[in-house]
Amino acid sequence: MKLYAMSAGYVEHEKRVFVPSAPKGLRVQAPLPFFLIVHPKGNVLFDTGIHPDAITDAASRWRGLDKVFAPRLRPGDDAMSQLRQLGMSVADIDVVINSHLHFDHAGANAFFPKATVIVNRREWDAAHDAAEIKRNAFIPDDYDHPLQYTFIDGEHDLFGDGRVIVFPTYGHTPGHQSLRLEMGESGVWVLAADSCYMLENLETCILPKVSWRAEENLASMQRLHDLHTAKKARVVVGHDMRDWLQLPTAPLYIE
Ligand SMILES: [Zn+2]
Repeated sequence: MKLYAMSAGYVEHEKRVFVPSAPKGLRVQAPLPFFLIVHPKGNVLFDTGIHPDAITDAASRWRGLDKVFAPRLRPGDDAMSQLRQLGMSVADIDVVINSHLHFDHAGANAFFPKATVIVNRREWDAAHDAAEIKRNAFIPDDYDHPLQYTFIDGEHDLFGDGRVIVFPTYGHTPGHQSLRLEMGESGVWVLAADSCYMLENLETCILPKVSWRAEENLASMQRLHDLHTAKKARVVVGHDMRDWLQLPTAPLYIE
């Protein structure tokens, strides 16, 4: 099994959006990670990154969220282009797993009509409720397409071999989920996505400024923190340049 880490461009934002104790005015750049898992039974994309329209017009595509997360995007930053760089196309992707439905994680879902798209049912329900759409800043254009959606209610062993396991990490959004990978020599890897934004959140269990539900987000973060401190897994956090720069990124891979 191989794990490729890629970033759908970058954003610049105030650090205290993620780490509230950070000084006002301190701005940081963050990657927008998504991942390709090549398993003998299929190719899996964990998140689809941004919609390519954001590269030319993030203000429209992100409905004003670009004011908080200033885009640092270049042509080719979208998932489709990056798969091409690896000699693959969207048709090679069998399964898409959405950690959640935010614009930088589900932005390119529409480009994967042949794939099974796995979303937690709580997330899908919230993403079709007017009040929750507003509260979570969901953009229905990202996910409301006639795709092969499959909804899950909790932990899910994708190939039935214990190597690719989706598990719930609720709280950032109603149905947020993370991915646990049993890599060969590299041990266990956990892709936290936005249940844990930065290494400081992971190390100290400090909550970001905004969560859908703080107590659920904290419980999810605590679980990741415990895996991290017990060295039971290499936890990759959601949006942290310090973590990102330590990772081998595509075309390099982890196996
Ligand atoms: Zn998010």
